[in-house]
Amino acid sequence: MNSLKSISVNILMPLLISLVFVIIIIYQANIPKIIFSLVPYIFYAISALIFWVSWHFNRNRFIFIIIPLVLMQVGFKYLGVDKATLLYIFTSIVFPLHLLIFLVLKERGLFSIWGIMKILFFVFEIAIVLYFIYFPHAIIKEFIDIKIFASSMYPLKDISVVIGIAVVFVLTMLVMFNRYLVYNSSFLIIAISFYSGLYFLKTPHANEISLLAISVVIFALLIRESYRLAFYDELTELPGRRALVEDMAKLGMKYSFAMIDIDFFKKFNDTYGHDTGDDVLKMVATKLSEVTGGGKAYRYGGEEFVILFPSVERDQAFVHTDLVRDIVSKSAFVVRNKKGSKKIFVNISAGLVQNSSKDKDPFATMKRADNALYKAKKAGRNQVVKG
Ligand code: GH3
Ligand code: MG
Ligand code: MG
Repeated sequence: MNSLKSISVNILMPLLISLVFVIIIIYQANIPKIIFSLVPYIFYAISALIFWVSWHFNRNRFIFIIIPLVLMQVGFKYLGVDKATLLYIFTSIVFPLHLLIFLVLKERGLFSIWGIMKILFFVFEIAIVLYFIYFPHAIIKEFIDIKIFASSMYPLKDISVVIGIAVVFVLTMLVMFNRYLVYNSSFLIIAISFYSGLYFLKTPHANEISLLAISVVIFALLIRESYRLAFYDELTELPGRRALVEDMAKLGMKYSFAMIDIDFFKKFNDTYGHDTGDDVLKMVATKLSEVTGGGKAYRYGGEEFVILFPSVERDQAFVHTDLVRDIVSKSAFVVRNKKGSKKIFVNISAGLVQNSSKDKDPFATMKRADNALYKAKKAGRNQVVKG
């Protein structure tokens, strides 16, 4: 289960965004009318921006989420009352499921086989909805009018409410147990905003503003995603070298710095293959990220890592660095092959220094840590050497 702290941190941003829009709806009497007439156009503009950024970052999931909402908005505006009502009912059933499917599906290039399958699936969804709007069958009418609850959630149909509750439930489970918290939390808020917009259809502007809120939540998610792409290492999910440089610029008067390298990793790759090597890198990264004593781990490059201890003295940092070194050396990694499975171990060496007034910049401190690491290697590896 994800920690309560990380859940609240991740859900906070989308939640705050939607709350701002809820307040706007509640206090709309005090806001100039002209602003509300612009809402759909702001929504279209942000949607276009989402399309463009998602395309460039190859985060097509967002394209598939925003387009149906744009189509829905356009449909509400330009279809006659009868057709718009049917559109309302069908989207309230289809969109939440669509949201869930596109959250779970892996991110692929739009024009790869998988991407094209997604496009076809999406076109199929639209075709089905359009077909039933223009040719409403009796069976479909019966299906959407099924009575499930004693009291009605008008204008929502009972079946939409059931699907809504199911989708929100699944998303809540994902928020609690799945590690892709940023995505799951935002999608949960999107689902809730979507239903609120439909349920409060009779409240002036509520539906349009719910769509605008969703577009802002997605846009904020995209910004976070681009930050993650820039600062986080894909393989190990640790912050990368760029993040290290940023953080080093923010350091105070005193800090300690550990340069870490996996021992005999080349031999490991040669023996077990590069993919197993990657898995070991991930394992080591996870252990390093759990370092205590206020340290923060980074992937410096290849099989080299850094732990930065802001405001911590060298001897104090040594205790915590040596502890992770010990933990890594005792963590078995299971390699499976045709002959069965085998437990193997890897060690790390580290050079640890504290900044000094003689270092002209943090990079000079880093250089000294590197020299200390070299000494740790020479002295037999699997140890932390203070420089
Ligand atoms: P030493 O104990 O002296 O550090 O020996 P070593 O074999 O670890 O030597 P060195 O640090 O020079 O080797 C780095 C090796 O790490 C080379 C390369 O095969 C491997 N490596 C670097 N980056 C990656 C990666 O992303 N994945 C995998 N699987 N291997 C990597
Ligand atoms: Mg190395
Ligand atoms: Mg090495």
